[in-house]
Amino acid sequence: MKFVSTRAETEPRSFSEAVKIGLAPDGGLFVPSELPDLSEEFSAWEGESYPTVCYRFFKHFATDIEDSDLESLIFKAYSTFDNEHLAPLIKLDDRISVLELFHGPTLAFKDYALQLLGRLYERQVALTGEAINVLGATSGDTGAAAINGLLGRSGVNIFILYPDGRISSLQERQMACTGESNVFPIAVEGSFDDAQRELKAVFGDRAFSQSTKLSAVNSINLARILAQCVYYIYACLQISEERRENTVFVVPTGNFGNVLAGWMASRMGMKVAGFRVATNQNDILNRFFNTGEYAVGSASQSLAPSMDIQVASNFERFLYYALGEDGHRVRGVMANFSSTGVFRADDQSIVDSMSSSRMTDAEICETIESVYQKYGYICDPHTACAFKDLKAFEHSVILATAHPAKFPETVLEATGQTATHRSLEKLKSREIVKYPLHADANTIKAFIESKQTTP
Ligand SMILES: *Cc1c(COP(=O)(O)O)cnc(C)c1O
Repeated sequence: MKFVSTRAETEPRSFSEAVKIGLAPDGGLFVPSELPDLSEEFSAWEGESYPTVCYRFFKHFATDIEDSDLESLIFKAYSTFDNEHLAPLIKLDDRISVLELFHGPTLAFKDYALQLLGRLYERQVALTGEAINVLGATSGDTGAAAINGLLGRSGVNIFILYPDGRISSLQERQMACTGESNVFPIAVEGSFDDAQRELKAVFGDRAFSQSTKLSAVNSINLARILAQCVYYIYACLQISEERRENTVFVVPTGNFGNVLAGWMASRMGMKVAGFRVATNQNDILNRFFNTGEYAVGSASQSLAPSMDIQVASNFERFLYYALGEDGHRVRGVMANFSSTGVFRADDQSIVDSMSSSRMTDAEICETIESVYQKYGYICDPHTACAFKDLKAFEHSVILATAHPAKFPETVLEATGQTATHRSLEKLKSREIVKYPLHADANTIKAFIESKQTTP
């Protein structure tokens, strides 16, 4: 299997190469050259463990990795999770179930992809003998999950930019209290968008990114999307085939990576009724799936900070499929979007491919409270967004994207309950090690250069 760019101007790459590079050189995102039809195979996976399903799935894509290597790195990646099912499906009532995706080491769904990506990077370093520098920007959960996936791995340094003072103190501690010497949490002045802009400028310096073997860990990395397909499939395998066809996955959404993965799994033959994009007040995607107009707004801080985005970077992958896998057309659309800030879908079927909803901060609090009152179940502020307007669906599977203990203030205010988790309690007594820098590409490059070692 080869991987091509959504903008059609990159030579097809192997799985390992596409994972290593992250962003395609033409500015596009990597996608499989064709999606396999797995509809016949799925039923044979029933009753298998999560890592086994993951392995069977990845065999179709990671064709340049030996089966035994692939299997062992997948099993190692998921050995760090704290629930035997990894992604348990909890029934709240006859119409609503919750797929809990917070049983990894940093208690957010991003662990499912980043534990695996960390192992893939390590394998790459072992094969080539060349060190890799991983760079990412985070508004909270990605950074912690990426760091945890790469903790102490030899030959891999990890640099994560985050907006100083704008992520929760627990999120900061998850990045800055690891005690590992290959981890560099960089607190930059300004907002997440400032951090993201400088990150792009650093990657834009080809000479620098090649000489330092820079790799992107943001949700644009292809391996992350593929790893996220697995829990949708795993959830479906626990639902009867008949019910599956009436099941809608409801996904708290920011950069659009999570829900896109489910949608791609459905294009590979996983039969479900559909997908619902649940946004917070930063609702560019809700506006798109209602009006067909995708228009940049400004992001404002909300109670669900990991969904506070201006534009959704994975939307380009959706467009690629929605526009008939025509990379040249995507290239034109993206060029136009970057100059005007607007994309209009000219085909209603694109707009109809998912439904959507939006929640304000006040509704998030009310929802956490009402879900607790009704079911005795405590959900985090991101997950809460998914409970909106589910009446029309026969069966909703809500993706619980973070553990409530990551957002104790909001949970306490809404329910009067104290949400805790032992892995977070441990962090509170540890020393914080972070690197405050100006949000400026040259400063960041100089910092990365000053930390170079050989594996
Ligand atoms: C990252 C994140 C999201 C948004 O996921 P996307 O893949 O960016 O749409 C939602 N909830 C939580 C808790 C997250 O960490």
